[in-house]
Amino acid sequence: MTVTADGSAPVSIPTSMSAAVLRGSVGSGDVVVMERPVPTAGAGEVLVRLLLSGICGSDVHFVFDGTAQTAYTPIILGHEPVGVVVALGEGVTNVDIGKRVSIVPLVTCMECHHCLAGRTVLCAKRMCLGADCEGAYAEYIVVPARNCLVVPDGLSDELAAVATDSVATAYHAVAYRGGVVPGSRVAVWGTGGLGLSAVGIARTLGASVVVAVDPRPEARQWALETGADEALEPDVALDRITAMGGVDVALEFVGRQATAELAVRSLDHGGRAVVVGVGFDQLSAGRIMTFVLRERSVVGSYGSEPHEVATSLDLMASGELVLPRVVGDVIPLSAILDGLARVRDGRTGGSRIVVDVTAGVGR
Ligand SMILES: [Zn+2]
Ligand SMILES: [Zn+2]
Repeated sequence: MTVTADGSAPVSIPTSMSAAVLRGSVGSGDVVVMERPVPTAGAGEVLVRLLLSGICGSDVHFVFDGTAQTAYTPIILGHEPVGVVVALGEGVTNVDIGKRVSIVPLVTCMECHHCLAGRTVLCAKRMCLGADCEGAYAEYIVVPARNCLVVPDGLSDELAAVATDSVATAYHAVAYRGGVVPGSRVAVWGTGGLGLSAVGIARTLGASVVVAVDPRPEARQWALETGADEALEPDVALDRITAMGGVDVALEFVGRQATAELAVRSLDHGGRAVVVGVGFDQLSAGRIMTFVLRERSVVGSYGSEPHEVATSLDLMASGELVLPRVVGDVIPLSAILDGLARVRDGRTGGSRIVVDVTAGVGR
């Protein structure tokens, strides 16, 4: 099974690895670092020795509150990884051993009509690493080779990791679902997480105005550091944005009814609200008359396409997209439960806490 790109002897791969596992039921908080077998790459797959994996808000839901579910437990969590390819399954030709790769977190069938139309986020057989199959808070992972994107030289491991979800999910929302173009006026509601990436991406895409809204002073400060023109508290934001004439694109990263309504109300005529935050609240687009006469749009946005992860990597590598606060801290795998709690409590130091899966594992 294992071959190397240059015909040399395969690198030594251990049989067991450290991994952070949600051991108890969803929402139980029962996450432990334990030994698990190193998986083997099948046809079309690769084995990746992981370096870093970012902590996502979804992980907090899986672990602490159960508002998002994993397909099963026990499961290795983690879906925002970067690593190095160490073994190739049969038939793999798109990536070589030794390459540093960002791993696209959604595993899709590439056969259904959504996949064939290039909308893999809508794949009916879609699986997310660390939620529907084994994830990336581990020393090794097996993924389809097509999920691996070679990281541009010069881009840090930290940014290569968060590109796969924190940045690319925001890119999908801003560029594709939001349709932000040069001159767009943009409001970002919620800049403590993915919304912080959205601020920078809107700026990179040429938005003429970017207004950030967040109740947390530090999140407003991060937004200003990322290029927002203004950073406002929620209770004054609508009046301020209305006084500006409204925005063309309002992005909601909170997942609550009240914030989504504020986002819709912050739109100028012809504006589009993009809801990215996940929650169980009902969504209201306001009075039908207003909705129709002002030709407002309200759309959802989920995940990203592989080419959007690649674009995120390229934009950061070229310096066109600068996200100084996207990585708040890097912690060892042994501190994963504390890291999850910090994300839950908003004690992050930036958009993401990233887990170094090579540190503190005793090898
Ligand atoms: Zn995520
Ligand atoms: Zn599909």
